[in-house]
Parts: sequence; structure tokens; C-alpha cells
Amino acid sequence: MKRIFGVFVLLLVATSVFCGNPKYIFYFIGDGMGPSHVLGTEMYLGELQGVIGRPQKLCFTQFPHSAFVTTYSASNGVTDSAASGTALATGTKTKNGRIGVDTEGNDIYSVAWAAKEAGMAVGIATTVCINHATPGAFYAHNISRNNYHEIAQWMLTADYDFYAGGDAKCNDAQRKELYDKARDNGYTIARGYSDYQAKADEAKKMMLYQKEVAEVIPYTIDRTSDDLTLAQITEAGIDFLYNKKKEGFFMMVEGGKIDYASHSDDVATVFHEVLDFNAAIEVAYEFYKKHKEETLIIVTADHETGGLVLGYKGDYSLNLKELQHQKVSIDVLKEILHAQGETTWGEIAKTVKENTGMDIRDSHPADEAVTITHELANKVAWEAIYDLYRKAAISWASGNHSGTFVPLFAIGEEADEFHGVMDNTDIPKTISRIANFDKKKSKNR
Ligand SMILES: [Zn+2]
Repeated sequence: MKRIFGVFVLLLVATSVFCGNPKYIFYFIGDGMGPSHVLGTEMYLGELQGVIGRPQKLCFTQFPHSAFVTTYSASNGVTDSAASGTALATGTKTKNGRIGVDTEGNDIYSVAWAAKEAGMAVGIATTVCINHATPGAFYAHNISRNNYHEIAQWMLTADYDFYAGGDAKCNDAQRKELYDKARDNGYTIARGYSDYQAKADEAKKMMLYQKEVAEVIPYTIDRTSDDLTLAQITEAGIDFLYNKKKEGFFMMVEGGKIDYASHSDDVATVFHEVLDFNAAIEVAYEFYKKHKEETLIIVTADHETGGLVLGYKGDYSLNLKELQHQKVSIDVLKEILHAQGETTWGEIAKTVKENTGMDIRDSHPADEAVTITHELANKVAWEAIYDLYRKAAISWASGNHSGTFVPLFAIGEEADEFHGVMDNTDIPKTISRIANFDKKKSKNR
């Protein structure tokens, strides 16, 4: 009996050594990505093939494990990205507006920080500015998400290996000072993907931004070949962090502009952002296939944005294929319209038709002259986008965030730990537990 017990103990020890402990952890956060953002994208792809359903599934919706996640903050039933980012990063609920501090104002530390202390290489990436709420929650501590300049300084204090996305949001002098300090702290700054490729081998730590100074990477629907994609950022992050040869890596990748487009009720732009996010996850999935026993990929969202509903009133139909006629985001449509300056109503109508497939509402003679002001450009663009989503049978109930569940998808080592109804604070706690960060941290001391 004693001997059997001994073998049993040995087996237990063996399993705890050889099972679990994902070495490569991807934490994907679709900002504002609710269930309808995900399913809507798939059903849009379906309609483009003339099918009702999901003939072309996203990579991450095929992951074997999934959960519902609650997102309310300590102060509000509907969270903002600061409180939800803090919950997803640290496992502690806080008040809306706060980054990496609890309701009492104490600094709280993220799972990325725990990964670093456990000896892992760490990367933080986004499509919006690198000192925005979601990325900030993984390295900074500030009472207000709006203290962008102060939040940016924390990047250097956290001293992670890789930061990528739009530039730091601050004024030009502050940005210069920040990057001078970053270089002094051993960071290489790359602008654009080819610049990254040229500099990566020599770099100790990396900041990868858009080619031109820009707070955000343009919407997927508006991009040119010079703009970074989230897939390129993820590719660069994997390449850079893997070659650090540390005890594995932890990488947070945010699809930040799903939220932006949802605040603008711009559903075609939303679906393109979800596809960009999915393309980044495909890159991680390719890595997973080569390192199956050691990799964990989690995909979730910080909250739902827009109160997006697939359907309008009672007619039981969707008409998502109409969205294919939209060629630019609402923001760029406004710019194109405004740039026309002294023009005619006929020219305005032509621009709207070319970029959205829609007719304008104002019925003026085509040759009637008009000076297009910012106000008029905004009104015309908004009406076209509104009419288009109505035609597609889409509803936006909130205009801001909503308090609904967000989805979670997981694959890889110990991914079955993510299931059922979870709170957003459970996610980083679960990652820390299964990756054994506490034990590894003490080993590293
Ligand atoms: Zn938002």
C-alpha cells in the first residue's frame, strides 16, 4: 500500500512538472468586441458568399474552449476601458477611469508584470496609442486614464521588452522627451514593419510604431500598404520575444479600434477591424501549432461597445452584404467630403455613392453650387452611414458601451480552465495560477 501511495505521489509530482505551465501566453483583447461584433463579422462573410450562416468562420471562434465574461466595474454597471483594462490586467475591479490602481487608489500589478517577474519576455501591443487605457493597464498606475503623459512614463518603469502600436498620445515635446529617455533606457524605436525588420536583430528592447508619428493606426478599411497591421505587429512581437530566449513570453495584443468604430455606429468598419484582429490571432495560432504543448491563446474583450444588434424591428432579416459597398470609414468619408470645398450637390452625391453605395438625403439639383463646411460634411457622412446600417438591418442601441457579456475563446495548454460564466477579474488570476507565476517569481529571486 505504502509503495502504491509512493508511486501515486511520484506521478502527481511528475504531472505537476510536465503538465501545465504554458510558456508562451497570448492575451488578445478586442476593445468593445461583443458577441454581435464577432458573429456579425462571420455572417457578413457568409452573405458575401450568398449564404445565411457561417461558411467562413473566424480563427478564434473555432477554439475548443469558450466562456461568457462579465465586465461591470466597481463603480458602474457599464464599465469604461480603464476599469475593464485594469480588471483584465490585474484581477481587481476598480472605478471607471482608473488605470492599475484599486478603488482606494493603491497601485495594483498586472499579469504582464507577474510574467516579467517570473522571467518571461513581455510584449504589449495595440492598434491605438500605446498609452491608451487597455495597454496602459498592463504597465501603468494612474488615478486617471486621461493623464496620458504620466501613463507613458510607466512604459519605461515597467521596462518590458516590446511595445507596439500607434504612437504615445502626448504633445510633440513630450513625445521627443519620452523617446530620448526610452533610447537612454536601451530601447530601439522602429517606424513601420520594414524598419522593424532592419533593426530587430541589434535591438535589446523594442518600440514599434506607425511610419509617421500618429496616435492610432488607421482603420483597416482605410489602410495603405505603408500602415502597420495588427498581424504584422503580432508577427514582430513573436519574433522579438521568442528570440529573447527567456523563460517564454507573455504578449497582450489589443484590437483597439473595434471600439472606436462602434462608438461611431460604423458597422462596416467594425467588421473590418474584427477581421484585422482575427488575422493577428491567426499569426499566434500558427505559432501555437509549432509549440502546442507550451502555448496558451486567450481571446476576449474588455466590454461591448455600441449595443450592437443583428436585426432591426420585426422583419426577421439581415442584409449585411450591403456593407460591402462601403469603401472608407465614416471618419475618412467626412475628410473626403470636406476636402471638396466649393462643389456641387451632384459631386457630393457622387462621392457618397462611390464610398458607401448610398444616395444622399438632400434633394438638390445636381448642378447647384455648395460650399461644404465641416458641419455639412459630418451631417452628410453620418446620414449615409446611418442609412447604410439601417439597410443592412443593424441596430445600435447604446452609442457608448453596454454591460452585456463578452465572449472568451481559448486554445492550448490549460485552456480548459476558461469556461462557463467568468468575471473579467478571473482571467488574469487564472493565467497566473496555471502559469505558476508565484512559484517562478520566488525561484527567480
Ligand atoms: Zn469605448
